[in-house]
Amino acid sequence: MRFHRRWAAALAAAALLTLGASSATAAPAVPGVTAASAVPAVPAVPGPGALVVSYEPAQTEVGLAEQQFLQENQVLESAAAHANALIGLPRDIPLVAVSCDPPNAYWDSESQAILFCYEYAALFRGLFAERNTEGSPAERARATDEDVIGVANSTVFHELAHALIEVYELPATGREEDSADQLATLLLSEDSLHQEYAISDIEAWGALAELSEQGALGDKLADEHALDSQRYYNAICWLYGSDPKTYDFVVLSEANPEGFLPEARAVRCPGEYTQMQKAWSTLLAPYLK
Ligand SMILES: [Zn+2]
Repeated sequence: MRFHRRWAAALAAAALLTLGASSATAAPAVPGVTAASAVPAVPAVPGPGALVVSYEPAQTEVGLAEQQFLQENQVLESAAAHANALIGLPRDIPLVAVSCDPPNAYWDSESQAILFCYEYAALFRGLFAERNTEGSPAERARATDEDVIGVANSTVFHELAHALIEVYELPATGREEDSADQLATLLLSEDSLHQEYAISDIEAWGALAELSEQGALGDKLADEHALDSQRYYNAICWLYGSDPKTYDFVVLSEANPEGFLPEARAVRCPGEYTQMQKAWSTLLAPYLK
């Protein structure tokens, strides 16, 4: 299940642009997203707003450690900057780091803000620490730090998708969670740094799926999302689909028994990726910078 090294080695080749300018033709149907056919209710130009990061004082010991980590490394600021460089918001949207119990990260429709809990980062730090077992203690700690940064980025992008769907009244139907995961994947496919984050994200879903299957997750995570292996395989599938040449080693086949993405799914992944890219690019076309 541990494949970080192989992922990392595969990254060198990839240079992708996923959102960017795209033809604003009708998008094909994808789960959760339908292209707008009517005039949007909000002005169809990139708004002047941006994700704006703030930190509330942490209320727990683990929370304090994560607050310090996030602030020192400007983790949320970097994630916000990546999104802000690509997508304009109609107004500033707060991205607030805060203590919560149970751990969570979510778009809060009531306060129109994305909340990111320190304890959510701590939960993933624990999962990653168990999986990063190679190298010196310093190397393992560093790998875990990087994984936490990766998950924080993908989480922010996922929650941003929920925010965008609401504030731009994007016509999302069906599984909005799939749409949100797809936008996160697209934002993570933009460059090699963020592709590394996507790999941490996949690791995180793998770890959660394992715990979930063992029934060991309990109420550790306040999350309305499916924690099943489907999300894990989606994330692998879409990263593979974004660049099948670079990531061909993920495909399980007779020639590659160490792969983990079943061939029957893998053949559909480039198409799935193209479809979600077209759908989101069309939906966001008026708001892309
Ligand atoms: Zn969600």
